[in-house]
Amino acid sequence: MNFDWNYFVGLLHNVDFWQASVLVVKLSIITWVGGNIFGLLLALSKQSHFKLLQVFASTYIWLFRSLPLLVLLIFIYNAPLLLPGSAQWLSSPFVAGLIALIVSETAYIAEIHRGGLLSVSKGQREAGKALGIKYSGIQRIIVIPQAIKIALPALSNEFVTIVKLTSLVSVISLSEILMVGQRLYTQNFKVIETLCAVAFYYVLIVTVFDRVIHWLERYFDVTNKSAKQVTDEERSLVKMTSEVPSIQTINPTSYPIVNLTGVHKYYGEKRVLEGVDLAVKNGEVISIIGPSGSGKTTLIRTINGLEMLDDGAIMIEGNPFLEPTPNGRIGKNYYQHIQKIGMVFQGFNLFPHKTVLENIMLAPLYHKLGSSDEIKQISFSLLDKVGLIEHAHKYPHQLSGGQQQRVAIARALAMKPDIMLFDEPTSALDPELVGEVLKVIEQLAREGMTMVIVTHEMSFAFKVSDRVVFMEQGAIQLSGAPEQLLGEAHPRLSKFLSNQEIIPNNLELNDATNRYA
Ligand code: ADP
Repeated sequence: MNFDWNYFVGLLHNVDFWQASVLVVKLSIITWVGGNIFGLLLALSKQSHFKLLQVFASTYIWLFRSLPLLVLLIFIYNAPLLLPGSAQWLSSPFVAGLIALIVSETAYIAEIHRGGLLSVSKGQREAGKALGIKYSGIQRIIVIPQAIKIALPALSNEFVTIVKLTSLVSVISLSEILMVGQRLYTQNFKVIETLCAVAFYYVLIVTVFDRVIHWLERYFDVTNKSAKQVTDEERSLVKMTSEVPSIQTINPTSYPIVNLTGVHKYYGEKRVLEGVDLAVKNGEVISIIGPSGSGKTTLIRTINGLEMLDDGAIMIEGNPFLEPTPNGRIGKNYYQHIQKIGMVFQGFNLFPHKTVLENIMLAPLYHKLGSSDEIKQISFSLLDKVGLIEHAHKYPHQLSGGQQQRVAIARALAMKPDIMLFDEPTSALDPELVGEVLKVIEQLAREGMTMVIVTHEMSFAFKVSDRVVFMEQGAIQLSGAPEQLLGEAHPRLSKFLSNQEIIPNNLELNDATNRYA
């Protein structure tokens, strides 16, 4: 084999090659960063409610994914023929090449980001909305960080593609690695040696950046992080329970905290709520029970605007809160009052990229409910209240289901709500973890928190509630104090309760409370 090793080794410290490598790195990094910024904006536009933005994003992606980069490069380099004013920038091959690369890569990277955004579960957005965070805040604090983490492997792969694509800019006479090589072998005909050196420089660049991006992936991967210990100083932040400003026992108005009148909800043709009237008084604990599919979850989600009502109205402390709107979107009064409602979901919906403490502090910081120190102090007090202070710096995946749900309760309480809504808070838990969550809810009930709880835990419902509401076929069939409901003979309720393993057939209240005690 006639391979000129000396020549090849000499090329590894050839100044022109190193300058070309710096140029390729510069082109690749700027293209990747620019492509990510514009690609993310494009992906968000594609998901936007605004038709015009959607159409613009879809058209852009369709057009520039269809156009070969080579064509785009030559087109942009020659654009001054059409627009003479652009000659001052586009006559530079670097600028023309960079623009072509960014324009083309934006279309590909937008699709990667769209995949990432779609992978963030609906529950994450709902949790943000229930905490009164607006659309832009939800995207910025909750969705985008998670989406980027999901998209990072594909984005790092795209960086490698970009590095390789830069070889195409030689077509507009930009002196990148391939062009330096071509210039050399057309003079000395040592084609293989020169191309081996070209390959060396590309492989070197890709390898270095591959390592950097892998490091970034590991850095953002919270599953690899071990939790910091809670310090004595942090423990000392815990206030006396009586000082925890989470429980609002004094209602300054005589209005119900929440008042639903004639609430109707349809899913397509299907009527799911049929004229529900419900007034929740200050300090009242209401459990909503009923067979599956009776509309309990829909009702509680309608109260805080996660589902829009189709008819009727919901007032908060005498103020208009929700009513049907022509476009089916949340009306103008919503964001004034949503902070008064705390929501706990069946599936917890904690933010997986934030620690327990950060989960609790996130919404109060967003709403500027106090200084960071004040909010931290309240958050530690709430963590103490739910018995999780030692877990403050853990990530949600490092906790059991019951612990996660208790964090979710603390997170909702941090917003100092006037009413707490619980949507089947124990349904996703293993049986042995149910009790620890119910105890926290019962404690809140004792402290006077106004609550509406959708639950299948009959013993618990009949024990802690001031009023039990029995729903069926989208309507409230019965509503009354537990003793009253159990004392009267309601055939439908008796049948429903006798089907629940918890309540024995004779419907003794004391029996009903046994399991939870
Ligand atoms: P429950 O909580 O009492 O089990 P739900 O409120 O979850 O009842 O559901 C009430 C009815 O509405 C059910 O028939 C269910 O299939 C239907 N439903 C719930 N959510 C949706 C949805 N997003 N789209 C269509 N139908 C739905």
